[in-house]
Amino acid sequence: MAEVLVYVDHVDGAVRKPTLELLTLARRLGEPVAVALGAGAESTAAVLGEHGAVRVLTADAPEFADYLVVPKVDALQAAYDAVSPAAVLVPSSAEGKEIAARLAVRIGSGIITDAVDLEAGDEGPVATQSAFAASFTTKSRVSKGTPVITVKPNSAAVEPAQAAGTVEALSVSFGEKSTGTKVVSRTPRQSTGRPDLTEAAIVVSGGRGVNGAENFPVIEALADSLGAAVGASRAAVDAGWYPHTNQVGQTGKSVSPQLYIANGISGAIQHRAGMQTSKTIVAVNKDEEAPIFDLVDFGVVGDLFNVVPQLTEEIKTR
Ligand code: FAD
Repeated sequence: MAEVLVYVDHVDGAVRKPTLELLTLARRLGEPVAVALGAGAESTAAVLGEHGAVRVLTADAPEFADYLVVPKVDALQAAYDAVSPAAVLVPSSAEGKEIAARLAVRIGSGIITDAVDLEAGDEGPVATQSAFAASFTTKSRVSKGTPVITVKPNSAAVEPAQAAGTVEALSVSFGEKSTGTKVVSRTPRQSTGRPDLTEAAIVVSGGRGVNGAENFPVIEALADSLGAAVGASRAAVDAGWYPHTNQVGQTGKSVSPQLYIANGISGAIQHRAGMQTSKTIVAVNKDEEAPIFDLVDFGVVGDLFNVVPQLTEEIKTR
């Protein structure tokens, strides 16, 4: 069976959910071979094996932490040379897309970015992409070289499947160009204690209806009562009420949680593009004509400042 390379996104050995989704999709195309780099790479193997990775190629070197993406591309290319895979799958993060694009150039292959689904085809993997704010879907395949495909988070439900997950050391050599751009400092984002927006099972979002940064604690309190991440519409972000990292939508993040609660959000197509694949959608809006109500499973017509605190209190009693 053909092997499929999967680039692993992990933090000190803790594998992030988008990688597990990639392993699920990779199994449709062949046998997943994971590539884990940097500190903690070897400790990813157990989880990767539980999600179908037959082999886990690992490498650690100061270059991965000290320089921008090129050393990681060197390592992924070394894995590509060693495996000759049928496809290379990379998570669609900003870093993942840069790594994938650089690899595709080096190996002379076509690339598809931001796929939301993958299936095996007679002439190679067929990737589904969502275009024009999710108004259309397109299906494409790479017609030159080994397909390099980046896949958006939450594109597939994670399905565990036990495989060997055998750890193998990957031999990587770095050239002069690998160390061209050095990282001079890193400032970790202050943790809110809430789950990551793109990985959360529940997302509670606020829009222009929240009417000021000082009112966002109302949204945060509901999120905390549910163990949820906090999202925001672009209107709220542009007004400076909430950080851009929390923006949901076409120019923000795509989320696909089990439950999405939109508060004071009208439901513009660009916002929908980032959340309409959520499994259950709830909206609180004081305008019964708001377009978000065309999309919801449950809608509450009301003032969020009345509804949301009551909801929070009720949830806390359970
Ligand atoms: P509004 O559309 O102003 O809606 C506010 C809603 O709050 C209204 O429905 C109102 O009835 C309700 N409301 C007001 N007060 C209350 C209250 N007290 N209680 C309950 N309800 C209340 N938008 C995104 O969100 N994400 C994106 O990534 C994004 N990308 C874009 C990219 C492009 C190229 C463009 C052109 C636009 C983009 N937008 C994006 C902007 C988008 O078109 C909308 O302008 C934006 O989503 C509106 O945000 P909103 O729903 O919070 O505000």
